[in-house]
Amino acid sequence: MYLGRFVQSGFRNLEPLDLTFDPHVNIFLGENAQGKTNLLEAIYFLALSRSHRTNNDRELINFDQDFASLAGRVHQKQVDIDLRLVISKKGKSAWVNRIEQPRLSKYVGHLQAILFSPEDLELVKGAPALRRRFMDLEFGQVNPEYLYFASQYRQSLQQRNNYLKQLAKREASDKVLLSVLTEQVATSASEIISRRYRYLAGLNRYAASAYQAISGAREDLTVIYRPSAKTIAPGNDAQTIKAKLLARFAEIEDDELRRATTLLGPHRDDLEFQLDGKNAHLFASQGQQRSIALSLKLAEIQLIKELTGDEPILLLDDVMSELDQHRQAALLNFIHGKTQTFITTTDLEGISQEIVKQPRIYYIH
Ligand code: ATP
Ligand code: MG
Repeated sequence: MYLGRFVQSGFRNLEPLDLTFDPHVNIFLGENAQGKTNLLEAIYFLALSRSHRTNNDRELINFDQDFASLAGRVHQKQVDIDLRLVISKKGKSAWVNRIEQPRLSKYVGHLQAILFSPEDLELVKGAPALRRRFMDLEFGQVNPEYLYFASQYRQSLQQRNNYLKQLAKREASDKVLLSVLTEQVATSASEIISRRYRYLAGLNRYAASAYQAISGAREDLTVIYRPSAKTIAPGNDAQTIKAKLLARFAEIEDDELRRATTLLGPHRDDLEFQLDGKNAHLFASQGQQRSIALSLKLAEIQLIKELTGDEPILLLDDVMSELDQHRQAALLNFIHGKTQTFITTTDLEGISQEIVKQPRIYYIH
């Protein structure tokens, strides 16, 4: 698939735009702080209805405007699809082929996008929240139910945490209500965790070979899920995971009441990256971390292709200058000229000649 026409207004510092992108390579060229990343972010937002760098959609609306509007035409193998999103201070609305969608989980998935940015280097050694965000963004776009359960989970988790606080302050004492809330949390949690296992297994089918191609090294990259409820294991189905969560919740009830918050579940789980069985969080060099992060994204492209039969689009923010010629060549090899690619850069010099052969260049100023 590729994104053809793209129209926007009111998104961050961008002037109103009406562009038609090249199906292959598009380069956004400009000085610092001109809006290159903002344009990539706008495309990413059109695809996922979420930003890669903020959870607060209001930040995306231009300081002097009340709303931002994004629209694009997606060209797929068979049909074209029109997407439209409006972000206002009250929330966002989404249309597919001019029909307003009742839920964002119905909207997401029509344009699949993989974004790689300097922040992704934090994926290996940064806070666990970054790795959870990675899973939520990547798996949400291949599985609408993942998004649905994630939003259910957020709601029931908040209710349960509020109730634990009330119990702790002795404003409430009904343990039956707590067990109802625990049951709700465990239901959506188990659906999320089982899907995370499933899609991580998919990523692992491609991650090692992507890593070897990108780094030129022979090490095996594997991604391992680290559940906060340690009794949960790979291969468990949602029902088993739910039963194990409920058993663990029963064991830690006193602790949760004392700390007045939910201590187990997808919001506490983490990922571990291993190179030849060694924890990359502890041992990986800067270069290895960069290669791990990039190979995960490339593995994700292949996984999406496997699951949907179509290519996602690839957004590369400021990464070319960070990759040497060898890694750029490896990246090119992966793209094969088939994946529509958007690249931001402050100058064309650091970019491999092969990439700039016939790109469409947009000057952002
Ligand atoms: P660099 O090369 O340094 O990465 P860039 O071209 O990627 O620069 P952007 O990150 O896209 O730059 O940001 C450009 C400008 O957008 C920033 O100076 C920022 O102040 C401005 N900006 C961010 N959010 C908003 C907003 N909501 N309204 C108006 N301007 C904004
Ligand atoms: Mg930038």
